[in-house]
Amino acid sequence: MRKPSSRPFSADVTSGARSTPSADRSGAASAPVAAPTAAVGAPRASERQVLQLLGAHGPLSRARLTELSGLPLRTISGATTRLLARGLVTHAPAAAGRPGRTGKVFALPGSPQVIAVVVVTHEDLAICRVRADGSRAGPVTRTPFRWWTCPDLPAEVAGRLGAAVDGVVLAIPQAYRQGHGVMLLEDGVPGYYGIAEYPAWIHTDLAAALTARLGVPAIVENLINLAALGEADGVDSLIYLRLGDIVASAVVIEGRIVRGAQGAAGELGHVHVDPHGVLCACGARGCLGTVANARHLLGVLRPRYGDDLGLFDVIALAAQGEPAVRRVLADLGRTAGTAIAGSLLMINPRALVLDPVLGPATVAVLEGLRDAFTRTLPTRIRTALTVTPGRPQEDAVIDGATTLWRASTQHR
Ligand SMILES: [Zn+2]
Repeated sequence: MRKPSSRPFSADVTSGARSTPSADRSGAASAPVAAPTAAVGAPRASERQVLQLLGAHGPLSRARLTELSGLPLRTISGATTRLLARGLVTHAPAAAGRPGRTGKVFALPGSPQVIAVVVVTHEDLAICRVRADGSRAGPVTRTPFRWWTCPDLPAEVAGRLGAAVDGVVLAIPQAYRQGHGVMLLEDGVPGYYGIAEYPAWIHTDLAAALTARLGVPAIVENLINLAALGEADGVDSLIYLRLGDIVASAVVIEGRIVRGAQGAAGELGHVHVDPHGVLCACGARGCLGTVANARHLLGVLRPRYGDDLGLFDVIALAAQGEPAVRRVLADLGRTAGTAIAGSLLMINPRALVLDPVLGPATVAVLEGLRDAFTRTLPTRIRTALTVTPGRPQEDAVIDGATTLWRASTQHR
């Protein structure tokens, strides 16, 4: 197992505008203006204005260039076409997840793209600036955050970004249907968050709202999908699974996130396992997520270890080799493994990657998973399957976000 997570979820959780370019960017941006080739002559006034606007504002659409310049759209179209032909501007990625979009976004060539990866979990909001090549442009900043109490998530993200970025990837801890919003949370069912009515933004197109506020392309994706994509480097197909505090999972096939018709593909936490189980936030009852979460885990262990037992204590006890704790964790893996075995048969993935949120206790959960697969899967499928712990989730999410961003720029 690689380095385990140092930040498991708490036990109570169950289930810039780019107004001014930075100095180095503005330096890079000015080069095309100062050095047009002699063969094509000096840029016309409209072309100079386009170059100046792109240098000052970053990537812009024709419509936005028209608005900022005050020139007619036809003039801007002609200027951008000529500048493209001479290599003085290039196409930049437009907002992802909007298949109906036909507008092009233009940028100065050579401008290093810096995107903000915003990771919303059930307990905090983290921001990391990364370059398009995946390298970090700054440290991760993290603050406590309860998304279900936030009245306007796009406004919150925009307010926290501060400095300029070329794009945003927002990771949210829910199944997300591109262009529509959060899936699988049913109003009227309190679920794990203790609320029956969710904020209105969960049923809206968050990417469009972010782009409208920030003026840059935005991608919104389920963070588990991004973690799966971040772990999929070099693996053609995998299932990513988180167990212990919540149950969450995702599927990547041939390097692509499998989203399904509504963005809910791979949500194995809602596999039905107990006909007499409690209600789930999805509206069903007895979902895997209701019997393999922290609340359930602690409920099983507290009669023996006391009511003050928390998830950190469980991890510590497992690390010390406490047999009863390791058995309960292995049973957790068995329950989940048995429930999802059919999905493995359906997909025949190369790997099942387990989020190491339980740190050293992850080993016991892996034992249970492997045992369940030994009992339930055909031999050849099981032996070809690698069951392994992943990297800390946040690292995987950031890598997956960068991968998704790069893929979005190649499709337009
Ligand atoms: Zn459910």
